[in-house]
Amino acid sequence: MSTLLVDNIGELVTNVPGHGEGGPLGLRRRAAVLVEAGEVVWVGPARDAPAADRRIDVDGAAVLPGFVDSHAHLVFAGDRAAEFAARMAGQPYTGGGIRTTVGATRAASDDELRATVRRLRGEALRQGTTTIEVKSGYGLTVTDEARSLRIAAEVTDETTFLGAHVVPAEYADRPDDYVGLVCGPMLAAAAPYARWVDVFCERGAFDADHTRAILTCGQAVGLGVRVHANQLAPGPGVRLGVELGAASVDHCTHLTDADVDALASTRVDPGDGDGPHTTTVATLLPGAEFSTRSPYPDARRLLDAGVTVALATDCNPGSSYTSSMPFCVALAVREMRMTPAEAVWAATAGGARALRRDDIGVLRPGARADLVVLDAPSHLHLAYRPGVPLIRQVLHNGVPQ
Ligand SMILES: [Zn+2]
Repeated sequence: MSTLLVDNIGELVTNVPGHGEGGPLGLRRRAAVLVEAGEVVWVGPARDAPAADRRIDVDGAAVLPGFVDSHAHLVFAGDRAAEFAARMAGQPYTGGGIRTTVGATRAASDDELRATVRRLRGEALRQGTTTIEVKSGYGLTVTDEARSLRIAAEVTDETTFLGAHVVPAEYADRPDDYVGLVCGPMLAAAAPYARWVDVFCERGAFDADHTRAILTCGQAVGLGVRVHANQLAPGPGVRLGVELGAASVDHCTHLTDADVDALASTRVDPGDGDGPHTTTVATLLPGAEFSTRSPYPDARRLLDAGVTVALATDCNPGSSYTSSMPFCVALAVREMRMTPAEAVWAATAGGARALRRDDIGVLRPGARADLVVLDAPSHLHLAYRPGVPLIRQVLHNGVPQ
């Protein structure tokens, strides 16, 4: 098997606490990374780098783990640019536009959906995202949810069944019947293509009882739990997620002290060298607040309470049509008072935590060789130079893209 040396790295973000200069990013200067068979096999000072079959000289650039986007909705048809324009002209966001996308998605062919998924996956990869979670949720029939997940599974292993995105129009006056469909034939058809189950727990979507019922059914067939929680208003989503052992509760824009305490109560230190973390991660999606012109979540409150925070794009045609993790990092720093180091960690290692993965979001022997080379000397530039295409090169599974 041939080896590849990524050499002459000016600043390497390892996300291994205590490495190099310490801190959560585990920064190393003048470093090199050796890759073999899609895995990192060695990390150390460039001067000690072993011989390799091939070598990429990054000429003093910063290198970090590929971004882990743990929340995206890529399987859809149509766009909602007009709705965005209306919001920017003053109309509030209510989540109701999801049904517009449901209609377009049901009408689309497999190949049309596949083309959109692949286009967005490629767009994300070019911006440094090497792992992306993809949800269903715009089909909302047994057939359309199953085919959404089947198509999602063509581009990622991190697929999430979101049949409970909204109650579709044809079930508007009998939501209990829709929950029965989701827990029964829809889950049965979707589960073979899904790793996770998710519910949009919000007024106007699914209440606490419905959310609990659906998540519990998903767990019973082996799916991990994630929740869209507390996006538009305070509600039961975060605490329900914690109670059910969710890997992540996502949005967390409107939190009470009890919500923050519940998240903090899941904090553990497994003694694996990666430091303490909360088993339920708070995944913040600042692209949604940007695109709906809403107040941002209070990241500092969560971080100060010891809650593990991830950043993700929420890429979807309605409330956050961005696939850019660097944009989310910049928003998190400027608008959510995260430090650049916290934001970069949350967009890499934090996303990995939110997907319960220890082989990504980190650069150490045994990890997947997902590396991003920046057109910059430091990770700081991701927030310092917003909107600038700083991703010079991406290695995915050790293969230059
Ligand atoms: Zn979402």
